[in-house]
Amino acid sequence: MFIIETMKLDTLNSTDNIFLILKGAASKMLTNTDLIELTEFRQKLHRHPELSGEEVETARTIISALKLISPTKIVTKIGGHGVAAIFDSGISGPTVLFRAELDALPIDERNNIDWSSLIAGKSHACGHDGHMTILLALGRMIARKPIAKGRVILMFQPSEETGNGAKAIVADPKYSEIQADWAFAIHVKPGSPFGYVATCPGLINCASLGLKIKLKGKTAHAANPEDGTPPTQAIAKLITALEALGPGGELNDNFQLTTITHIQIGEPTFGVAPSDGIIYITIRAAKDELLIKIEASARNLALLIAKEYGLKVEFILSDVFSTSINNQDAYEVAVNAMNAIGVSNGNLGLPMKASEDFGVFGWSAKAAMLCLGPGEKYPALHNPNYDFPDSLIPIGSAIFERIARDLLGTK
Ligand SMILES: [Zn+2]
Ligand SMILES: [Zn+2]
Repeated sequence: MFIIETMKLDTLNSTDNIFLILKGAASKMLTNTDLIELTEFRQKLHRHPELSGEEVETARTIISALKLISPTKIVTKIGGHGVAAIFDSGISGPTVLFRAELDALPIDERNNIDWSSLIAGKSHACGHDGHMTILLALGRMIARKPIAKGRVILMFQPSEETGNGAKAIVADPKYSEIQADWAFAIHVKPGSPFGYVATCPGLINCASLGLKIKLKGKTAHAANPEDGTPPTQAIAKLITALEALGPGGELNDNFQLTTITHIQIGEPTFGVAPSDGIIYITIRAAKDELLIKIEASARNLALLIAKEYGLKVEFILSDVFSTSINNQDAYEVAVNAMNAIGVSNGNLGLPMKASEDFGVFGWSAKAAMLCLGPGEKYPALHNPNYDFPDSLIPIGSAIFERIARDLLGTK
């Protein structure tokens, strides 16, 4: 019962959940003191959110915590502010990587809790503080009871929210000494029952990208708009045409969705007919090749319409995410591990239209993403009221520990 004593009982809503937590703690490797310290650690991270690419202090906090558990090596500044802890058994065998993210979001937190964000306009509204803590909990367990062969990597990657971090990690020459054979990640997924893990083989997250389309014409007096070349009509036409490119609907192999997220024309004044306009469009697809095709169509449309109205056009590409595909073998390893420790799992709500840059690790490793439920009524990700439930720390770390021991054994 030692785990239950420190859990927030108000987060438990059925006897199933209690059973799950007890079995989830089957390793008996996390003590009460661990859970108290890990909860404090998670809340400390929550108080100090940093945006993508700016994760200096977060990386420093992670490095200090890792030093206390003495991994074989700590790799710093990988792919930017990334940090990797290597636990090497010294015996040849596979390298198993577990991924968490360092970055927070430009969202003003609305929670009034002791550990609310201390930084105005920034918060850990995607639960990355919890993911980091799950990795640290795993590190504690591996440090106490080492693996028999191969290596465990705890990978704290930067810039997940912008889609740049995982790519920067694998492109960094420092990654050559890591070269994972297997890669696993847990992301919290509101909407699922507490402690339930959604996963599936194949597509789990769609590809997406952001495209800014800038149109440039010529201003004129508002009394004589015919003397200028305003982008207004071109933008009106583009809205309909761009939305028609990606109608959305059911998430099948042909899924394609275009969402206009921002539009601006001219300046907030009454005297000037505008010269400049901008449209932000997010493109989403179930396949990388489909995403590229829709992007090309969007660019062609903009070029054609801009030409029709005598406007110059410029494109800026941003937030590019590939699809995340779960490898069949990695999926089976994860499901077997969860079944062994009694974590309920299935494919509820999958695949997801939202994107996740973890897919990049799957280009060179057998990878699987697991979506951990905080409870059906929990606030959505990227919501100003989001706060990672600490009661998920022992469940997430128990899953990772079991995966590591199934693949690498225990000394
Ligand atoms: Zn996010
Ligand atoms: Zn996230």
